[in-house]
Amino acid sequence: EPACTEPLQVLGRDVRVPLVTGGEVTYAALDYAASAPALQRVWDDVAAYAPYYGSVHRGAGYLSQLSTDLFENARRTVEEFLDCRDGDQVIFTRSTTDSLNLLARALPADCQVFVFETEHHASLLPWRDARVTYLNAPRTPGEAVQTLERALADRDPHGPALVCVTGASNVTGELWPVRELAAAAHAHGARIVLDAAQLAPHHPVSVRELDVDWVAFSGHKLYAPFGSGVLAGRADWLQEAEPYLAGGGASKAVARRTDGGVDVEWHTTAARHEAGSPNVIGAYSIASACKALTEAGFEGLVAREQELIARVRTGLAEVPEVKVLSLFGNDAPRVGVISFVVEGWNSSHFAAALSAEYGIGVRDGLFCAHPLVRTLLGSDPQEQGECGAPEAAPGEKSLNAIRVSFGAGTPDEHVERFVHAVR
Ligand code: PMP
Repeated sequence: EPACTEPLQVLGRDVRVPLVTGGEVTYAALDYAASAPALQRVWDDVAAYAPYYGSVHRGAGYLSQLSTDLFENARRTVEEFLDCRDGDQVIFTRSTTDSLNLLARALPADCQVFVFETEHHASLLPWRDARVTYLNAPRTPGEAVQTLERALADRDPHGPALVCVTGASNVTGELWPVRELAAAAHAHGARIVLDAAQLAPHHPVSVRELDVDWVAFSGHKLYAPFGSGVLAGRADWLQEAEPYLAGGGASKAVARRTDGGVDVEWHTTAARHEAGSPNVIGAYSIASACKALTEAGFEGLVAREQELIARVRTGLAEVPEVKVLSLFGNDAPRVGVISFVVEGWNSSHFAAALSAEYGIGVRDGLFCAHPLVRTLLGSDPQEQGECGAPEAAPGEKSLNAIRVSFGAGTPDEHVERFVHAVR
């Protein structure tokens, strides 16, 4: 029985950090979109389990059986959290990046892939070995659906096709019309995978209601520690594909052939793509976070986050030099992820000052979505450049941006301090 704490209390609320101006202050973690602080409840659950863990799957001992149960129960908890359909499989991976790369390796031959150029690199890049069509940045959710419909209408209707879309942008926080995009994909015989890395920590995600074929997310953005992620959804393509990793756990039976080679029969369950000793603690902590979020209820979380978003946006709007980045416009529904530039400031210096002078942790750069951020900054989306973009010359456009992001456990004081510091 794990210890039970307040469901959405996060770790690290009392950490003191030094200020360059002297003294110290409690750290204001406002970079949830990169990695959210872990829930105390997740930590307690892991600590309660730690003395009991043992090898999983074929271990005969009591603790091995206990660990196997916890690992397999974690799969069921995630299945429930995502409201999966009968026959869907939950595969534990390392992260969203890992999940999408796994799916990319499992595409049937000649699969066409459609992906908006605005995606995070994790959902933009894994498909480069397939026949991929990059779709231009839409300026409204409706335009996103039309753009996809047009592209799908032109495709070879007989071959397999996959659409990959992010539910909530890691740059603007804006929500994408996932249900409508899924309907468009299915109307044209294509499938769809949802990158829910930024959506799942902020909104309930129902595979069934959104009618997506797969969903991917990361534990470390969902208030669990680093190192584990999920790919959930339809089993067929995955079970027909070569295992992601070859090795023990994925193989059901292995035998020498008379010609000297080796024959393998692979599993046709989630284990097919989980070769090697699994990250049981990772899976268990994701399940613990899913339970904590479900028990606390998303309603309160969403309402609270919307208050914080409103406060940040009002605060930023009072500073004339600040420009908030948005693809779909001011009124677009969004999660607690806001990027902006400050006229006359280099974004990296600005973010460094927030840390050094105010103890606020934000992020600067192009946020692993280079084409999107360049489009939003009005620079050339085809330009090459690195994350730590160089300083813009006086009077020139910013080459990178600042991102503030928050969620469960963010106190008003962090947001007030941020608004004050920007001002
Ligand atoms: N997709 C989106 C929308 C993201 O924000 C991120 C992380 N920034 C990823 C994918 C990749 O997640 P991970 O680094 O955990 O693989």
